[in-house]
Amino acid sequence: MTAEIISGTEIRKEILAELEVEVKEIKEKYGKPPGLVTILVGSSPASISYVTLKVKTAISLGFHEIQDDQPEDISEADLLALIEKYNNDDDIHGILVQLPLPKHIDDKKILNAINPDKDVDAFHPVNVGRLMIGGEEAIFAPCTPAGIQEMIVRSGTETSGAEVVVVGRSNIVGKPIAIMMAQKGVGANSTVTIVHTRTKDLAAHCKRADILIVAAGVPNLVKPEWIKPGSTVIDVGVNRVGMNEKTGKAILRGDVDYDEACKIAGKITPVPGGVGPMTITMLMKNTVKSARMHLSK
Ligand code: NAP
Repeated sequence: MTAEIISGTEIRKEILAELEVEVKEIKEKYGKPPGLVTILVGSSPASISYVTLKVKTAISLGFHEIQDDQPEDISEADLLALIEKYNNDDDIHGILVQLPLPKHIDDKKILNAINPDKDVDAFHPVNVGRLMIGGEEAIFAPCTPAGIQEMIVRSGTETSGAEVVVVGRSNIVGKPIAIMMAQKGVGANSTVTIVHTRTKDLAAHCKRADILIVAAGVPNLVKPEWIKPGSTVIDVGVNRVGMNEKTGKAILRGDVDYDEACKIAGKITPVPGGVGPMTITMLMKNTVKSARMHLSK
């Protein structure tokens, strides 16, 4: 058996095309586009490259996009004041603060200052609570888990009644995706198990998964014999395992032994080109949703 590849790169294209249509509709109906501000503090190369990608995607969709760059030594009070300014700006529907922040600034205090209705990253405790309640309450889902769920749905994987095993219990991936898959609704209704470093028999849990979601950050953690034949495997892990001397780029691997897993799984996401491209896409989707919500009030 050779697994069907669930390509994040392809699904990203589909979703961006849908969003482009939505942005046009929003502009026609309300006279303004979705507005997103991306706040970057300092000049870490990794943060600059993430922000650049987000800004480029937002502009390509026709958003009103502000890249607000602030110096490394901005005070916490000034950053809080900046967030308050965007909380009160009717043209802005999504506020994004690129992490990590410099050490003199309390990340939590900053993220908690964002109006939860403009928190398109969905890290605010109010949005974490809303996600837990589910249904209409869950306005924004955090972007990586939302991308995972979208890939599962768009690949035609049955989730209702499925055994889902999530490897990892982080606040940004493992816990939220586990909650989302267990909720009532489309792309959910699953029976979910979360496993982690204290789990007694990781292999036994993975083996019974109809949908195996792996977010551990350990290259080749999941062995081929842990995979149930025909199952759907979502590999969230992004591990730098070396450097390509010709291109100078990092060689990336997931948490699953991909080549061997392809012979057993029914569907599988590659690394790179799997979950990775979905995160920014879902950020854009959350911003469009937020714009509709704010502009229709
Ligand atoms: P994290 O905060 O480090 O959490 C890792 C989780 O995996 C922890 O809950 C840990 O268990 C568990 N774990 C680690 N080693 C394990 C092992 N040997 N057996 C069982 N469980 C193990 O990581 P994260 O932020 O969730 O990210 C996980 C991976 O996804 C990373 O490779 C990251 O780069 C990638 N990621 C990708 C995207 C994307 O593609 N867009 C986004 C986010 C993250 P304990 O809690 O017991 O320590």
